[in-house]
Amino acid sequence: MSKKYDCIKRSSSQMTTSDGSWLGWFHSLPVNTFLCRVPDDFLKYSLNLTDLEPQVPNFDRALDIILDTEFDKESGFNSMETDVKESTHLYGLIHARYLLTPDGINDMCLKYKRGDFGSCPRIHCEGQFVLPVGLADNFGESRVKVYCPRCQDVYQPYKCCTMLDGAIFGSSFPHLFFMQWPQLRPQPPTRKYTPRLYGFKLHKSALLPPPTESPSDNNDNSSSKAKVGTPPALDLSKKVPPPTPLN
Ligand SMILES: [Zn+2]
Repeated sequence: MSKKYDCIKRSSSQMTTSDGSWLGWFHSLPVNTFLCRVPDDFLKYSLNLTDLEPQVPNFDRALDIILDTEFDKESGFNSMETDVKESTHLYGLIHARYLLTPDGINDMCLKYKRGDFGSCPRIHCEGQFVLPVGLADNFGESRVKVYCPRCQDVYQPYKCCTMLDGAIFGSSFPHLFFMQWPQLRPQPPTRKYTPRLYGFKLHKSALLPPPTESPSDNNDNSSSKAKVGTPPALDLSKKVPPPTPLN
Protein backbone atom coordinates (compact mmCIF):
# COMPACT_ATOMS: atom_id res chain seq x y z
CA MET A 1 0.00 0.00 0.00
CA SER A 2 1.27 3.46 -0.83
CA LYS A 3 2.66 5.36 2.14
CA LYS A 4 1.18 8.51 0.65
CA TYR A 5 -2.29 7.09 1.06
CA ASP A 6 -4.31 9.62 3.00
CA CYS A 7 -6.65 7.93 5.42
CA ILE A 8 -8.58 11.16 5.89
CA LYS A 9 -9.57 11.32 2.23
CA ARG A 10 -10.75 7.74 2.20
CA SER A 11 -12.71 7.78 5.40
CA SER A 12 -14.37 11.14 4.99
CA SER A 13 -16.95 9.41 2.79
CA GLN A 14 -17.83 7.10 5.67
CA MET A 15 -18.73 9.73 8.23
CA THR A 16 -21.47 8.30 10.38
CA THR A 17 -24.83 9.96 10.32
CA SER A 18 -28.14 8.85 11.73
CA ASP A 19 -29.71 7.96 8.39
CA GLY A 20 -32.67 5.90 9.62
CA SER A 21 -30.79 2.62 9.35
CA TRP A 22 -29.91 0.38 12.28
CA LEU A 23 -26.23 1.15 11.71
CA GLY A 24 -26.93 4.89 11.65
CA TRP A 25 -28.80 4.65 14.96
CA PHE A 26 -26.17 2.38 16.51
CA HIS A 27 -23.28 4.65 15.61
CA SER A 28 -25.09 7.74 16.84
CA LEU A 29 -25.01 6.40 20.42
CA PRO A 30 -22.24 8.02 22.51
CA VAL A 31 -21.18 4.62 23.90
CA ASN A 32 -20.16 3.62 20.38
CA THR A 33 -17.95 6.64 19.69
CA PHE A 34 -14.86 4.45 19.32
CA LEU A 35 -16.40 2.25 16.60
CA CYS A 36 -15.93 2.80 12.90
CA ARG A 37 -18.82 1.96 10.62
CA VAL A 38 -18.36 -1.38 8.90
CA PRO A 39 -19.25 -1.00 5.18
CA ASP A 40 -22.33 -2.81 3.88
CA ASP A 41 -20.31 -4.80 1.34
CA PHE A 42 -18.14 -6.20 4.14
CA LEU A 43 -21.25 -7.12 6.16
CA LYS A 44 -22.87 -8.84 3.18
CA TYR A 45 -19.83 -10.88 2.12
CA SER A 46 -20.46 -14.33 3.57
CA LEU A 47 -16.77 -15.22 3.94
CA ASN A 48 -16.39 -12.37 6.42
CA LEU A 49 -19.04 -14.01 8.61
CA THR A 50 -17.51 -17.49 8.65
CA ASP A 51 -17.86 -19.29 12.01
CA LEU A 52 -19.85 -16.45 13.59
CA GLU A 53 -23.23 -18.20 13.34
CA PRO A 54 -22.64 -20.59 16.30
CA GLN A 55 -21.62 -17.64 18.47
CA VAL A 56 -24.84 -15.64 18.10
CA PRO A 57 -28.37 -16.94 18.79
CA ASN A 58 -30.82 -16.09 15.98
CA PHE A 59 -27.91 -15.24 13.71
CA ASP A 60 -29.99 -14.56 10.58
CA ARG A 61 -32.41 -12.31 12.46
CA ALA A 62 -29.53 -10.41 14.06
CA LEU A 63 -27.86 -9.87 10.68
CA ASP A 64 -31.15 -8.71 9.12
CA ILE A 65 -31.48 -6.07 11.83
CA ILE A 66 -27.90 -4.86 11.29
CA LEU A 67 -28.61 -4.45 7.58
CA ASP A 68 -32.02 -2.84 8.18
CA THR A 69 -32.17 0.48 6.37
CA GLU A 70 -35.47 1.55 7.96
CA PHE A 71 -34.86 0.83 11.60
CA ASP A 72 -37.43 2.05 14.13
CA LYS A 73 -35.35 2.97 17.14
CA GLU A 74 -38.41 3.16 19.40
CA SER A 75 -39.51 -0.41 18.72
CA GLY A 76 -35.84 -1.41 18.75
CA PHE A 77 -35.58 -0.40 22.36
CA ASN A 78 -38.95 -1.77 23.44
CA SER A 79 -40.30 -4.84 21.69
CA MET A 80 -37.05 -6.11 20.15
CA GLU A 81 -34.65 -5.57 23.02
CA THR A 82 -33.31 -9.12 22.83
CA ASP A 83 -32.81 -8.81 19.09
CA VAL A 84 -30.87 -5.59 19.59
CA LYS A 85 -28.57 -7.29 22.08
CA GLU A 86 -27.91 -10.12 19.63
CA SER A 87 -27.38 -7.69 16.78
CA THR A 88 -24.98 -5.66 18.91
CA HIS A 89 -23.02 -8.79 19.78
CA LEU A 90 -22.86 -9.90 16.14
CA TYR A 91 -21.84 -6.43 14.98
CA GLY A 92 -19.07 -6.40 17.60
CA LEU A 93 -17.75 -9.70 16.27
CA ILE A 94 -17.81 -8.41 12.68
CA HIS A 95 -16.26 -5.09 13.73
CA ALA A 96 -13.33 -6.95 15.33
CA ARG A 97 -12.69 -8.70 12.02
CA TYR A 98 -13.05 -5.53 9.97
CA LEU A 99 -10.42 -3.76 12.07
CA LEU A 100 -7.87 -6.35 11.02
CA THR A 101 -8.26 -5.36 7.35
CA PRO A 102 -6.35 -2.47 5.73
CA ASP A 103 -9.66 -0.63 5.17
CA GLY A 104 -10.62 -1.01 8.82
CA ILE A 105 -7.26 0.31 10.00
CA ASN A 106 -7.53 3.23 7.60
CA ASP A 107 -10.98 4.10 8.94
CA MET A 108 -9.60 4.08 12.46
CA CYS A 109 -6.69 6.25 11.29
CA LEU A 110 -9.10 9.08 10.59
CA LYS A 111 -10.57 8.80 14.05
CA TYR A 112 -7.10 8.64 15.61
CA LYS A 113 -5.95 11.78 13.82
CA ARG A 114 -9.09 13.59 14.94
CA GLY A 115 -8.47 12.53 18.53
CA ASP A 116 -11.77 10.64 18.74
CA PHE A 117 -10.25 8.15 21.18
CA GLY A 118 -8.92 10.82 23.53
CA SER A 119 -5.39 11.53 24.71
CA CYS A 120 -3.00 10.03 27.23
CA PRO A 121 -3.59 11.27 30.80
CA ARG A 122 0.16 11.09 31.55
CA ILE A 123 1.52 14.64 31.77
CA HIS A 124 4.84 13.90 30.05
CA CYS A 125 3.06 12.33 27.06
CA GLU A 126 1.92 15.89 26.25
CA GLY A 127 -1.56 15.07 24.98
CA GLN A 128 -0.53 12.13 22.82
CA PHE A 129 -3.58 10.64 21.08
CA VAL A 130 -4.46 7.08 22.09
CA LEU A 131 -6.03 4.06 20.39
CA PRO A 132 -8.64 1.61 21.74
CA VAL A 133 -7.42 -1.83 22.73
CA GLY A 134 -8.82 -4.94 24.35
CA LEU A 135 -6.97 -6.78 27.08
CA ALA A 136 -8.57 -10.02 25.84
CA ASP A 137 -9.78 -11.35 22.50
CA ASN A 138 -12.83 -13.16 23.83
CA PHE A 139 -16.09 -11.31 24.38
CA GLY A 140 -17.27 -10.81 27.94
CA GLU A 141 -13.82 -10.88 29.54
CA SER A 142 -12.92 -7.18 29.83
CA ARG A 143 -14.02 -3.70 28.81
CA VAL A 144 -12.21 -1.53 26.31
CA LYS A 145 -9.06 0.35 27.34
CA VAL A 146 -6.95 2.92 25.50
CA TYR A 147 -3.31 2.45 24.54
CA CYS A 148 -0.80 5.28 24.45
CA PRO A 149 1.88 4.68 21.78
CA ARG A 150 4.25 7.12 23.51
CA CYS A 151 4.48 5.66 27.02
CA GLN A 152 3.18 2.26 25.77
CA ASP A 153 0.76 1.83 28.64
CA VAL A 154 -3.02 1.39 28.85
CA TYR A 155 -5.61 3.55 30.60
CA GLN A 156 -9.34 3.86 31.16
CA PRO A 157 -11.15 5.48 28.21
CA TYR A 158 -13.76 8.23 28.18
CA LYS A 159 -16.49 7.53 30.69
CA CYS A 160 -19.14 7.22 27.95
CA CYS A 161 -17.18 4.42 26.27
CA THR A 162 -16.23 2.32 29.26
CA MET A 163 -19.06 -0.17 28.69
CA LEU A 164 -17.77 -1.29 25.28
CA ASP A 165 -16.40 -4.82 25.20
CA GLY A 166 -12.65 -4.81 24.64
CA ALA A 167 -12.88 -7.74 22.21
CA ILE A 168 -14.59 -5.42 19.69
CA PHE A 169 -11.07 -4.08 19.12
CA GLY A 170 -8.96 -6.99 20.31
CA SER A 171 -5.52 -7.05 21.86
CA SER A 172 -3.65 -6.73 18.53
CA PHE A 173 -5.34 -3.70 17.01
CA PRO A 174 -3.03 -0.79 18.03
CA HIS A 175 0.06 -2.80 17.09
CA LEU A 176 -1.33 -3.72 13.68
CA PHE A 177 -2.27 -0.07 13.27
CA PHE A 178 1.32 1.12 13.73
CA MET A 179 2.62 -1.65 11.49
CA GLN A 180 0.44 -0.19 8.75
CA TRP A 181 1.16 3.43 9.68
CA PRO A 182 4.71 3.40 11.14
CA GLN A 183 5.18 7.07 10.34
CA LEU A 184 2.48 7.86 12.92
CA ARG A 185 4.37 6.19 15.76
CA PRO A 186 5.47 8.95 18.18
CA GLN A 187 8.88 9.34 19.78
CA PRO A 188 9.09 7.95 23.33
CA PRO A 189 8.73 10.49 26.14
CA THR A 190 11.92 12.38 26.97
CA ARG A 191 10.92 13.45 30.47
CA LYS A 192 9.90 11.54 33.55
CA TYR A 193 8.39 12.73 36.80
CA THR A 194 10.97 13.08 39.58
CA PRO A 195 9.67 12.87 43.18
CA ARG A 196 11.04 15.78 45.25
CA LEU A 197 10.70 16.99 48.82
CA TYR A 198 11.13 20.74 49.24
CA GLY A 199 13.09 20.75 45.99
CA PHE A 200 15.44 17.87 46.86
CA LYS A 201 15.31 14.53 45.07
CA LEU A 202 14.11 11.71 47.28
CA HIS A 203 16.52 8.84 47.79
CA LYS A 204 15.26 5.67 46.10
CA SER A 205 14.98 3.93 49.47
CA ALA A 206 12.44 6.56 50.56
CA LEU A 207 10.16 5.50 47.70
CA LEU A 208 9.99 1.84 48.66
CA PRO A 209 6.97 0.49 50.55
CA PRO A 210 7.60 -0.54 54.18
CA PRO A 211 8.86 -4.12 54.60
CA THR A 212 6.10 -6.64 55.13
CA GLU A 213 6.05 -8.65 58.34
CA SER A 214 7.26 -12.22 57.98
CA PRO A 215 5.17 -15.05 59.51
CA SER A 216 7.82 -15.47 62.22
CA ASP A 217 7.21 -11.85 63.25
CA ASN A 218 3.52 -12.62 63.69
CA ASN A 219 4.32 -15.59 65.94
CA ASP A 220 6.62 -13.55 68.13
CA ASN A 221 4.73 -13.07 71.38
CA SER A 222 7.59 -11.34 73.10
CA SER A 223 6.38 -8.82 75.62
CA SER A 224 9.15 -6.49 74.47
CA LYS A 225 7.36 -6.00 71.12
CA ALA A 226 5.92 -2.49 70.81
CA LYS A 227 2.14 -2.23 70.86
CA VAL A 228 0.35 -1.20 67.66
CA GLY A 229 0.12 2.55 67.45
CA THR A 230 2.90 3.13 69.97
CA PRO A 231 5.92 4.88 68.44
CA PRO A 232 9.25 3.15 69.17
CA ALA A 233 11.34 4.75 71.88
CA LEU A 234 14.47 6.59 70.77
CA ASP A 235 17.74 4.93 71.77
CA LEU A 236 19.95 7.93 72.49
CA SER A 237 22.93 5.74 73.35
CA LYS A 238 23.44 4.93 69.65
CA LYS A 239 25.15 7.26 67.24
CA VAL A 240 22.98 8.70 64.53
CA PRO A 241 24.39 7.67 61.12
CA PRO A 242 25.28 10.46 58.68
CA PRO A 243 22.65 11.24 56.01
CA THR A 244 22.92 9.29 52.74
CA PRO A 245 24.12 11.51 49.88
CA LEU A 246 21.43 12.24 47.31
CA ASN A 247 21.92 11.33 43.65
ZN1 LIG B 1 1.22 8.10 27.40
